[in-house]
This record gives sequence, C-alpha cells and structure tokens, in this order.
Amino acid sequence: MHLKYKVVGIICLLLISVSLGSSLLNYYHSIQSSDAELKERSLPLSIDNIYTEIQKHFIQPTLVSSMMAHDTFVKEWLTRGEQNPEKIYTYLNTFKEKYGMFTTFLVSDFTRNYYHPTGIIDVVSPSNPANAWYFDFKKLPEEYEINLDFNEHLSRGLILFINYKILDDEGAFMGATGIGINVSYVYEMLKRFRETYKFNVYFTNAAGEILLMEEGLKSADSLVAIEGLASLSRKALGNESIQFEYQSGVDHFIVNSKYIPELNLFLFVEANTSDFTGELKKNFLGNLFLSLLVTAIVAAIIVFTINTYQKQLESLAAIDPLTGLYNRRTFDSHFHTLSTFHRRTGAPLSAILFDIDDFKRINDTLGHLTGDAVLEQVALCAKTAVRDSDVLARWGGEEFALLLPNTTKEEAFQVGEKLRHAIMSHTPINSLIRGGLTISLGVSTFHEQDTLNSLFHRVDQALLRAKNNGKNQTVFAT
Ligand code: GH3
Ligand code: MG
Ligand code: MG
Repeated sequence: MHLKYKVVGIICLLLISVSLGSSLLNYYHSIQSSDAELKERSLPLSIDNIYTEIQKHFIQPTLVSSMMAHDTFVKEWLTRGEQNPEKIYTYLNTFKEKYGMFTTFLVSDFTRNYYHPTGIIDVVSPSNPANAWYFDFKKLPEEYEINLDFNEHLSRGLILFINYKILDDEGAFMGATGIGINVSYVYEMLKRFRETYKFNVYFTNAAGEILLMEEGLKSADSLVAIEGLASLSRKALGNESIQFEYQSGVDHFIVNSKYIPELNLFLFVEANTSDFTGELKKNFLGNLFLSLLVTAIVAAIIVFTINTYQKQLESLAAIDPLTGLYNRRTFDSHFHTLSTFHRRTGAPLSAILFDIDDFKRINDTLGHLTGDAVLEQVALCAKTAVRDSDVLARWGGEEFALLLPNTTKEEAFQVGEKLRHAIMSHTPINSLIRGGLTISLGVSTFHEQDTLNSLFHRVDQALLRAKNNGKNQTVFAT
C-alpha cells in the first residue's frame, strides 16, 4: 500500500479507537449513574411521593366511609326503623357532594335496602350474584374492604368501592356504608404518574392479582403470570418495602414495592431502564457519528495536505523555478517516452537547442535581475511560439531545448527560424534590452539508433557552428 494511505489509515484508526473508547466509557459510566440514580434516589423518592398522592386520593375516601359508618345519626336512623328515607338520601348526597365522590351508599342489614343519594336502587338478596359482595363482606373479619366492582345501577364501568361495616354498640352488624370512586379517574391518576415520573404504577392484592393498572400496561393480571416477576412475587408481597430487578423479554425493570395497610394493597412502582437509557444511547450514537465525521474530515485534510505537498515536491523536482519550463530531468523522461514511440512508429522526431547570444554582456551591463527577467521572457515567448505537444525545457543557464514530435528536419528548421524571429520581435524583451535579443539554434532529427546523448551531441555541434558563423542563425546537422 502507498505510504501515504498507510499513514492516513493509522491516524484514522487511532482517532476512531480513541473516540470510540471514550464514547463507550462515557456511555457505560452514564448508564451506571442512571441506574444508581434510579435505585438510590428516583425510585425511593417517587414511591414516597406516589404514596403521599395515594393517601390524598384513597385515604380521604376511606376516612369518609369510616366517618359515615361511625356516624350516630346513621346508627340511630337504622335502629329507629329507617323512617323518613329522604333523610338518608340527603345524608348520602351531602357526603357525595361535599367530598366529590362518584357515589355514596348504605345497605341496611335489616331491610336489605340499598340506599343511594337518589333513593333505594336495589334490595340485596343472597340469591342475586350481583349482590354477592355484600354477603361476602358481611362474613369478613375486617371492618372494611376495598372492592373493585361493577354496579349496573350506577355505571357501566368499574367502580372502586370502599365498604365499611356499621356495627352497633355490641359490635353486631347493622349494614354497610361507604363510597365509590369512578375508576376511570384512578386510571387517569396512574397515567399521570407515568407521565410525570416515567414510572409504571400498579396495585395488587396480597395474592398478587393486579387490581389497578393503566390500561394495557401489563399483559397479565397477576404477578405470577408475568415473565421474570413470578419467582419474585412472594418476596414482593411481603410487608416490607423492597427493591428488586427483573428481566421480561428485552426489557429490564427496577421495581420498588410497598405495602399500603390503609388500602390493604401493594403498591408497585417500576422503571423500565430503557426509558432512562434511550437518551444516553442516542447521545452515544450521536457522539460516535460526530467522531467518525471528524475522523473522516481529518483524513480528508491529511490526504489533501499530503497531496498538495507531494504535487509541490513533484513540481519542484520537475520544473525549473525561474522560467516555469521543464528541467533537464523531466526533459530526459519525455525524450525516452517519445523516442520509444517514434522508434516504433517511424514517425519523425526533431530536436532544437538554442542559446541566447551574448547573454553574459546583458548580465554584466544590466545586472543579473534583468538577466533573469530576460530568461523568463524568452521562455514565455518560446512557449507561445511552439505547439502544445512540443516539449520545451531549460537545458541549463541561457540554453533551451525543444523536442518536436512528428516534425521533419525541414519543419524543425522552420520552427527554429520562427522562434528566432519571435524572440527578436518580442516586445517585452525589446523593452528590457535596447536593440533586442538574438539567439543561435542547432537543429537535428532523431535517428533510430539515437540516444539522448548522441542526438544532442549533433544538435550541440550545430549550435556551435551557428555561434561560430556569427550567431543569430539556425544551423541544421544531419
Ligand atoms: P554566447 O553568445 O557565446 O552564448 O555568449 P554568452 O555570453 O551568452 O555565453 P556565456 O556562456 O559566456 O555566458 C553565459 C552567461 O549566462 C554566464 C552566466 O552567468 C549567465 N547565466 C547562466 N544562468 C543564468 C541565470 O539563471 N540568470 C542570469 N541572470 N544569468 C545566467
Ligand atoms: Mg549564450
Ligand atoms: Mg551558453
């Protein structure tokens, strides 16, 4: 491989490995701190915040239910035979309105009437499956329960009931009272939790059945049916607040759970780590793209710089700096290419060597700088006088060489004469040297067995004759 590309390759490799290494390190460090932030701060803090919110939303209804169940007015009204039922409608309505509940109710165990703010809407009966909740509740040792249920008289959606037992002074069961919260409101609350904290929030009972969750949050309705969670559910359903992790498919979760005694429910707050690392991944890929771009730009700059310097070096090695013409070295290589071609095809190839007459005198009388300017002008004039396919070079000092492909000796002689006249009448030269400038030229043509030396030996001889014959003329050597 070219040394240039090796160097660029090594530099790019170094740049890429440095930026890839630091991006990766950064990425893993960020992921670790994001994990630590979740475990040590966000989740524990959030579960406390959510618990406080829940207390606000659930505990007040529980207290309202408790207040109703312990109200002496209610007990007295029941004891006195449930007279003037509008009194209890008003009572229920007052609590409903005052505390903003979806519904309030009272079921008398004596008459089995289901009282509601608008009147008696049902008479509960053990034979009616829709009333089973009442008879189940009556049997419970606990004083109250939270029950998610339908009530066809009230709503087509789920209602979260907080049922409280009304007990007389001896502790005998007189009936049930309580409130109902529209669960769609609870769903809104869960959704809001997720949007605010990016956490999934759900509630289970002691058996691990998910009683409340945002719609579609989990595919199963019990912890034991969730991949990765089943084996942890027993630990999670203890009475202590704990933190654990589980993997479900491609998702990795960190979970905090807490038992809420007031509701007899378990609160789960979980974070899907990809929700928190997605941004980091994006940053990582962005950084990587940027460093690849920078590497590509650096590589391009290096290649461009090397190419520029290479061209400069090549031109320094090939071009005469004063006149901008080829130097002897380049002329040699052109000669080899052309001579090979002409030897093969037999097409004519001619050469001219010309030398400025009395150039030493110009230097001596007008100075070296003018001498240089004259050389530049001679080169320019000669360049415009010959064809593009001709090879013109500074042979050395004030001597110039020309290779004329596809040119016979007669034509070459004419070119020589044309050149001589062009220099003599070249205005910029005439304005530098009063009386103008002349050149002497030697011409010869290429023979099949010729080398550069043998050809230019003849040309040189011709030039010498031109000088000896009085200069300012073209001489041909066979
Ligand atoms: P002739 O007519 O016989 O060629 O005489 P001449 O004076 O031209 O030839 P000579 O070989 O005696 O002198 C050539 C001079 O050209 C001598 C040298 O100092 C001068 N010369 C060679 N290269 C340069 C150059 O690059 N710049 C300048 N200013 N002078 C140069
Ligand atoms: Mg000379
Ligand atoms: Mg000379």
